[in-house]
Order: sequence, then structure tokens, then C-alpha cells
Amino acid sequence: AGILNFCANNYLGLSSHPEVIRAGVETLERFGAGLSSVRFICGTQSIHKDLEEKIARFHQREDAILYASCFDANAGIFEALLTPEDAVLSDELNHASIIDGIRLCKANKYRYKHMDMQDLEAKLQEAQKHRLRLVATDGAFSMDGDIAPLQEICRLAEKYEALVFIDECHATGFLGPNGRGTDELLGVMDKVTIINSTLGKALGGAAGGYTTGPKPLVDLLRQRSRPYLFSNSLPPAVVGCASKALDLLMESNAIAQSMAAKTQRFRSKMTAAGFTISGQDHPICPVMLGDARLASVMADDMLSRGIYVIGFSYPVVPKGKARIRVQISAVHSDEDIDRCVEAFTEVGRKHGALP
Ligand code: PLP
Repeated sequence: AGILNFCANNYLGLSSHPEVIRAGVETLERFGAGLSSVRFICGTQSIHKDLEEKIARFHQREDAILYASCFDANAGIFEALLTPEDAVLSDELNHASIIDGIRLCKANKYRYKHMDMQDLEAKLQEAQKHRLRLVATDGAFSMDGDIAPLQEICRLAEKYEALVFIDECHATGFLGPNGRGTDELLGVMDKVTIINSTLGKALGGAAGGYTTGPKPLVDLLRQRSRPYLFSNSLPPAVVGCASKALDLLMESNAIAQSMAAKTQRFRSKMTAAGFTISGQDHPICPVMLGDARLASVMADDMLSRGIYVIGFSYPVVPKGKARIRVQISAVHSDEDIDRCVEAFTEVGRKHGALP
């Protein structure tokens, strides 16, 4: 009781939004608990097609395909798209599911240093010998809250005739003027070819993932993507919730803006208090502490003051870069944010993280 959650990916607070919950209940009642089938047998209802159409419209892309999770979307795409004649160039800090997806494909693999455009260019030059090149990056990186330099990536991709793939799990719904994601934020919506993202974070927080992009690509995935072909359809209630979440975001960007204002409040107050917050204007606000034990002890102490946060240390983050990762949500009030900053200040002083 009275504990504030500052470690969920519920960026927009939609997992407890009354309209999202009602939509889930209504869809459950009308369309049943589940399909007991994969999509291409008897697992496609009108709501699945409607949601795919809505996702494509939201991202301003031609088509979309649903998966049980974004992990599945990432596991399915590289193998379906790339052959041994092709190449994939991946940021070294990409999410585990991108790394696993790439492992499953037979393309030539290049790993460039985190957000290092010189290294990407060198790898693109090396990869010119291959038939097709795909640059794969997280749009926003979840450990540091930093944002991929998509303008530069797209410029290099154009120069070296590569396609660009972004994972938007920590961007969809709230980054950019209308919450479309990092491609909107950085003005490259027409240059990024493929987006994978999740319904399990900002868009209602239940489960589900998708790929959106050119129609021929989505058609190919429906034919060849193994997690799509061989795993059950999304349950109707989950589809209903995500669909309503997208409706709310397409009606207004007020929720995303409120989250951005609270992020700004937290970041500026914490910086003024003397903490170092990593990342750029992102609701993932890593409070950098360095020492693993300090991060863990401080997180425990925060909980005793009613603030739920988690310490991250090696091997989840590099040695010496332990932190407490705070995540801001639109459902936090200004008072909640201030309570969190006050608790950090007290706990930081107590444990010597602040003078
Ligand atoms: N990609 C990124 C960047 C993520 O952070 C996550 C979840 O942690 C995933 C993919 C997987 O998403 P899902 O939970 O929908 O499988």
C-alpha cells in the first residue's frame, strides 16, 4: 500500500486506463478467450486484421503483422528476410531478442560499436560485397535511455544502399511529436524501412508484438516467419486492449506530452540535486551510481520509503556502471515525481552518493 512504481515500462499508464480495460473485457466477451490455433489455420478474427491495419496506419506504413511478442517478431524477421548472400549490421548494445534473431539467420554478421557512425560506415564499406545490407538498431536503448542517431544511420544507409530496421519497444506511443517513435522524433519516418515493436509496454502493457513496413515484406513474413507460422494467435482481450490504446493515442497526444513533461521534471530535479542521469529526454532515467552494492542498497532503501525502483549491475550493464533505472509514466503525478526525487536525495546522502 502506498508504494509508487517507478520501474515499469507502463510509460503512458495505459495498462490501467479504464477505457483500455473496458475494451479488453468487451472483446473477451464478444470474441472469446482464445483461438486455439495459429493465424493461418483458424486463428484470424476480424479484430486481428483491424489491429494490423491500425498499427500500419499509426506508423504510416503499408502493412503490419502481429506476433505473440516482440521477442518473436525479432526472432522471425532476419531469418525470413536475409539469405547467406546478404549482410546484417547490428549495434553491439542491441536488445537480446535482436541478437537472437540475427543468430538464427544465415546472413553475414557485422557488429558495430554502440552508436559509432564511423564504425558503422567502415562495416558498411566491408559489407558492400554482399547482395543486400540491413542495419539493425534499437530506436531507444533500454539500459541507458539513449536514442539511436537515426538521421546519420539513414544517411549512411542511403549512401551504401542498405535498409534500416529499428526496434521501437521503448519509443512507440510516446517519442516524437505524435508518439510515433524515434523515426518521427528524428524526422526520418520515410527512411526507416522496417519497424518492430511491442504491445507489452506503452500500448497497454499486456503482450504482443509486430512488424510494420512495406507490404511485400509483411507478405513474405506471413509465408516464412516461423514464430508467426508456428505459434498461437494473440488472445482477443489483448487485441482489444492494444487496439483501444492506439485509438487513444491517435485521438490526442496529450498523454504522451504529459509523460514528457514529467520526465523533464524528474530529470531536471534529480540533476539539480546532484545526481547524474544518463540518456536524452527519455522516460528511462538511469541514475548512475557506479558501484553495484550501492545501487542495490539504495534501491532497497528507496522501497522502504515507498518508491519501487531496481538496481542494475554487471552483467546486465558494464562493470563499474551500476545504476538505478527509473522509468517515468504519465500516471505519475507531479507530487509522485517530487516524492521520488526527495527519497533519492535522502537515500543518496545517507549512502554517500551525494555530498
Ligand atoms: N526489444 C526490446 C528493445 C525490448 O526491451 C523488449 C522487452 O524487454 C523486447 C524487444 C521484447 O518485447 P516483448 O516483451 O514484446 O517480447
